[in-house]
Amino acid sequence: MATIGWIGLGNMGGPMTANLVKAGHAVRGFDLSPAALTAAAASGLTPATSIADAVAGADVVFTMLPRGEHALAVYLGEGGVLESAAPGTLLVDSSTIDMDSARKLHDAAAEAGFRFVDAPVSGGISGAEAGTLTFMIGGDPASVAAASVFIEPMSANIIPTGAATTGQAAKICNNLMLFINLAGAAEGAVLADRLGLDKQVFWDIASVSSGDSWALRTWYPVAGVVPSSAANRDFAPTFTAELANKDINLAVAAANATNTPLEIGEHVQQLMQRLIDAGEGARDCSAIVKLVDGTLGE
Ligand code: NAD
Repeated sequence: MATIGWIGLGNMGGPMTANLVKAGHAVRGFDLSPAALTAAAASGLTPATSIADAVAGADVVFTMLPRGEHALAVYLGEGGVLESAAPGTLLVDSSTIDMDSARKLHDAAAEAGFRFVDAPVSGGISGAEAGTLTFMIGGDPASVAAASVFIEPMSANIIPTGAATTGQAAKICNNLMLFINLAGAAEGAVLADRLGLDKQVFWDIASVSSGDSWALRTWYPVAGVVPSSAANRDFAPTFTAELANKDINLAVAAANATNTPLEIGEHVQQLMQRLIDAGEGARDCSAIVKLVDGTLGE
């Protein structure tokens, strides 16, 4: 079994590493948060004292960090992965980050003699726990194939996307559609209610009709319809409005760089920003429904 170095043991990294440990790998992990480190150690991970400690002797190094700036710091910073790992080590960034940062990481890793792939994931915390994430992986085919072997215990779907940064591109475009669909489900749900439809009857129709979407089936923002919806728990987060806003902003930035008009995406980004400005940033992104039903601030 392999020795795996892992940086970033938060909501996603913690359960992802637990599945690698279950598969028999020796995982050495580092996180700036002592609480995250302790929680991961309870699942069998060996806590490391630094990035250098985590990557020493690793066959492969994974990173699962919030944003591009964190990934750049962890790879390129003093005492970072490129400085500390043995040259030639396979590096896998599974964070959701901007296209520019993804490109910088690929270039810097190649220049320093490392194999690097961008391998963001979809499936949320429940998918991380169940080992059923979808991985979308960009990079040279040999490195993608090598990374897939280690990714297998964490995933239900492993999809090579093509050249460097295309995994990140797929993730950004997927999440753009997700949040547009969520906003659509919120508007449809509230209007249906005001037109006198029973919430369950309307959901039963939409979920087998052309209004269907993953957001509708999983995050339907009305309490008492879909068990996995945060609306049942006063919008306690499964995916925060802050994180959703970050992801839509990645799409908006990529659209600006490619002269792509994202009129709907930009509008949904503004809705998420309004939620955050109203103090709801740490709540679930499906609280976007509050902008439709008039309960914002209640
Ligand atoms: P998180 O904030 O829970 O975890 C990130 C961890 O990185 C934190 O524990 C933090 O302490 C650590 N960290 C930050 N900088 C560090 C550094 N310099 N050195 C060591 N550790 C550092 O975030 P998360 O929910 O686990 O998400 C991670 C990534 O996965 C994000 O890019 C997110 O967009 C993406 N993602 C999240 C979900 C989800 O449902 N939460 C789903 C798919 C993808």
